[in-house]
Amino acid sequence: MELKDMLYEGKAKQVFLTEDPERVVVRYKDTATAFNNIKKATIVGKGKVTSAISALLYDFLSKAGVKTHFEELLDECDQVCRRVKVIPLEVVVRNTIAGSMAQRLGLEEGTKPENVIYDLFYKSDELGDPLMNDHHAVAMKLVTYEELQVIYELAGRIDSLLLDLFRRAGIHLVDFKMEFGRTAEGEIILADELSPDTCRLWDIETGEKLDKDRFRRDLGHVREAYEEILHRLQKVINQ
Ligand code: UDP
Repeated sequence: MELKDMLYEGKAKQVFLTEDPERVVVRYKDTATAFNNIKKATIVGKGKVTSAISALLYDFLSKAGVKTHFEELLDECDQVCRRVKVIPLEVVVRNTIAGSMAQRLGLEEGTKPENVIYDLFYKSDELGDPLMNDHHAVAMKLVTYEELQVIYELAGRIDSLLLDLFRRAGIHLVDFKMEFGRTAEGEIILADELSPDTCRLWDIETGEKLDKDRFRRDLGHVREAYEEILHRLQKVINQ
């Protein structure tokens, strides 16, 4: 597949046009950023691990009937994906309280909530991705209420599938972030990335953090933790 102009460059990925107007190539980079780009680093080899994990999870979800933008790996860091219009919302699902929710509401990290929690953040670097609610998203014409219903249903299904997959790998899926896109036909499908850069993943036995919090909180061994996630997932998938 021939790569054409770069359509977009984000903090951890580049997106290239291809000769096929329906397809783009998403390249996973070795850069790590946190706190709205204030903390930055290059972690050599991260791109190929996050790409491999994302591809594995997208394959797993597709086989379970969830539509995603992922089609195939072109090489280690490059993925052929369906071209979609990404909805500028970060949809976060929380099975356990951590991160910004713990801070905002003064809750202890690791608290198990009564219910699964869904958060919406408005994707805007200038505004620092503020938390918003359904009514804000509809008022800003980002989505309709009907589309939000589809998104929450998909998010809940994806959460159940991933919780179980990670559990089989000895990992607790604490929380994760998704982005959704609209196809040319207007269908809403899962897009962007699913990896330890976008999920919180704790070892079930030891509680060890195996995700981007290692980078955010200077815990070290970021790439090694991501590789551990990949190997455990590969083992479970190949069983
Ligand atoms: N997340 C992400 N991108 C973002 C913000 C959050 O992938 O721009 C992920 C994050 O890794 C975690 C989940 O979404 O798995 C919830 O993040 P939270 O709201 O707790 O924010 P953070 O701790 O990243 O400030």
